[in-house]
Amino acid sequence: MKINSHIHILSPLVHFFYPHNCIGCGSDVIENENFLCHECINNLPHTGFALHVNNPVEKMFWGRIAIAAGMSEFFFSKTSIIQNLIHELKYKGNKDAGLYLGNLIGTSLANSNRFLNIDMLVPLPLFAKKEFRRGYNQAEVLCEGIAQVINKPLLTKNVIRVVHTETQTKKGRIQRWENVEKSFSVKDPIALQGKHILLVDDVITTGATMEACGAEILKINGTKLSIAALAFATR
Ligand SMILES: [Zn+2]
Repeated sequence: MKINSHIHILSPLVHFFYPHNCIGCGSDVIENENFLCHECINNLPHTGFALHVNNPVEKMFWGRIAIAAGMSEFFFSKTSIIQNLIHELKYKGNKDAGLYLGNLIGTSLANSNRFLNIDMLVPLPLFAKKEFRRGYNQAEVLCEGIAQVINKPLLTKNVIRVVHTETQTKKGRIQRWENVEKSFSVKDPIALQGKHILLVDDVITTGATMEACGAEILKINGTKLSIAALAFATR
């Protein structure tokens, strides 16, 4: 006798009360508790960066800040499955999607020997107001998902975002840098002293925000910095 046989009896009912479709393509051929159908899972644009020295994320920070290792789990494009998942996480309150994505990042970190000596995870902070409006910081949800796999502590509310920057979309890299440069602060530097920090964000585009936040962390005595993102937007 199969122990989980009751699941098969219940599932049509569960599907009725919680109807759900694949977030990637809308298909309803999807197992309960999954976000994506098998087809979309197979088509996820994994980068494989975590395994590779001098991958594009690491190169992006050359001459800007010194990072021990960097990775992005996925390539980002406006039409991808990833775009839909990020939308769920950022605008539809779907924290479970974030945990799922964090698990995928965590699995890549665990399968690489380049992130072994991470001491703690730090989510890239949002402005307090923005976090309050959204109800959570999406980078923190990703961190929780990563921590479920690699079992490292999560440090939140220590690195904070302090100055409001203007919208960045129409500005060049230098102006953007001036905007974000002074927008991060560490409340308790002692907690980070001598630690290898993995700074986590959802999407890396220019890298300016990660650079500004990372620079603040690297001012602290003996810190090492690595970077993990969910998606990497090439331009
Ligand atoms: Zn699908």
